[in-house]
Amino acid sequence: MANQARPPTKFSPKLPFTDGDGNHVYNTILLGLPPKDCLLVLSKLEFVRLKTHQVLHEPGDTLRSGYFCNTGLVSILTVFSDGKSVEVGLVGHEGFVGVPLVAGLRSAPTRAIAQIEGTAFRMDSETLIAVLRQSPRLERHLQQYSQNLAMQATQIAACNRLHEVDERLARWLLMSADRIGSNYVPLTQEFLAQMLGTRRASVTVAAGILQRAGLITHSRGNVKIIDRKKLEEASCDCYGMMQRQIRDWESDSH
Ligand SMILES: [Zn+2]
Repeated sequence: MANQARPPTKFSPKLPFTDGDGNHVYNTILLGLPPKDCLLVLSKLEFVRLKTHQVLHEPGDTLRSGYFCNTGLVSILTVFSDGKSVEVGLVGHEGFVGVPLVAGLRSAPTRAIAQIEGTAFRMDSETLIAVLRQSPRLERHLQQYSQNLAMQATQIAACNRLHEVDERLARWLLMSADRIGSNYVPLTQEFLAQMLGTRRASVTVAAGILQRAGLITHSRGNVKIIDRKKLEEASCDCYGMMQRQIRDWESDSH
């Protein structure tokens, strides 16, 4: 499958799948809006490309924009004063970067960095705050997504403390594949070590375990999921727990 997400089936075929400039919309928050709201929001968005390792904000920055991620993958990191960092969230086409803005907060607590190049629809903070007043549905969707991201951070913190590196690597690959809509995850082991808060050598060992079991193949800079079902079995409980919670919340919101 190409490294792009599919438009969800619940999206009305009467609406454009593109913005006014012909850029395809894959972000599920935008696609889940009623037609009137979707057109209003799309008219205020700017389509932007995100390069690999492009930083969207650093801790302490004033958030000047929010980003509806469209393709690619953005990592949310907690950064320490010695420069070390660990991943606390992953955002793909289901998500939004800049959740403090939804609660009227401007200071960024984390670093947001594009880990796989992609695209997003950007809205400046002032416009977003005005649009949220006009579209309670968008506000509700973003509030719900904020809960999703907070739940992820809680689970990942517990995961990093309690679970083995190969289980965590399996969990991370599944989360990433879901968010980019592809079983091909173009990332180096050095990067994976940083994301999992461990040493590179540990990631090499963990990737070797998963590869020998026939679940993935990995080479320099690339990981491909070969057997997704078995990879889910090799993951710690965290992936399944997060998926169940997301499903429960999706049914709550209908
Ligand atoms: Zn875990």
